[in-house]
Amino acid sequence: MYAVNLARYRCCPNIKENGLSTAPRLVMFTSQECHYSISKAAALLGIGTKNVYAIPSDERGKIIPSALEEQILSAKSEGAVPFMVNATAGTTVLGAFDPIDVIADICEKHNLWLHVDACWGGAALVSSRHKHLLKGIHRADSVAWNPHKMLMACLQCSAFMVRDKTSLLQRCHSARASYLFQQDKFYDVSYDTGDKSVQCSRKPDAFKIWLMWKALGSRELEQRVDRALAMARYLAEEIKKREGFRLLMEPEYANICFWYIPPSLRNLPDGPELWEKLHKVAPVIKERMMKKGSMMVGYQPHGEKANFFRMIIISPQVSRQDMDFVLDEIHNLGKDL
Ligand SMILES: *Cc1c(COP(=O)(O)O)cnc(C)c1O
Repeated sequence: MYAVNLARYRCCPNIKENGLSTAPRLVMFTSQECHYSISKAAALLGIGTKNVYAIPSDERGKIIPSALEEQILSAKSEGAVPFMVNATAGTTVLGAFDPIDVIADICEKHNLWLHVDACWGGAALVSSRHKHLLKGIHRADSVAWNPHKMLMACLQCSAFMVRDKTSLLQRCHSARASYLFQQDKFYDVSYDTGDKSVQCSRKPDAFKIWLMWKALGSRELEQRVDRALAMARYLAEEIKKREGFRLLMEPEYANICFWYIPPSLRNLPDGPELWEKLHKVAPVIKERMMKKGSMMVGYQPHGEKANFFRMIIISPQVSRQDMDFVLDEIHNLGKDL
């Protein structure tokens, strides 16, 4: 929401006073794999969800840059005004990272705001082994990152970072309430950050990551990420070894997506009948695990793909035995299906 509002303000500064009536049709771009908050922001801010152009992704869930550029040109030819691209670093379902560097080139060429939704994948930046996943992120105009996800800060702790040094946040959001934001105070008024935000009263959420960082140190944060991703890798390797388990794809991050194929379906040829039957398996196993109270592992369909499990690994406390348990338990709960 902040990113869309800032990007729009940079493109049409008069909108703050005039509202939407004099604005052109503004169009933003994001991959079809992006988080639903992008279209929600477009709806709430009056951009309109129809003006969020969904760019196709490749089979690994990454935006296709040539398709992005085509749609930017096509929006221009319709007389619309492109103003922003959202790149996702760590998509919700597949954990895919859009190629930020290539997208940044396109944004520079067309003078578009580049926002990186790194809510999920941003944690990789604390790891020297994994930060390459976000190569090019320094070129973004804004970045959203949730330390309450992979780093496990207390809910909620969401960071929004802006590259601008010309007080854009201030100009875009300020209401200059004279009873709060007096300019003739005895101290440096740049510490009064309240007028930059949309909310008035606000919790000091930033302290959660600040305190955690102080207490654990950069090294431990890095190890948390490395450990979680090593555990994810272990689970993926186990899935490949075990009969009846099948990975959707090699994971790029901590999202391990896989099917469990019960023994009764293992001899079916790969075709519509198998996938129709497989589609019904994950919901039943999920129901059984919840009623038994042994675990909670999410499932979903995705595009043409039948229901599959999506195991997300973040806790530094999980072990290989826990990963083995997940697979054993799924087999035990589903082997009669
Ligand atoms: C979780 C998530 C969000 C939403 O963040 P909230 O802080 O829960 O609103 C946005 N984008 C991505 C990619 C996410 O994974």
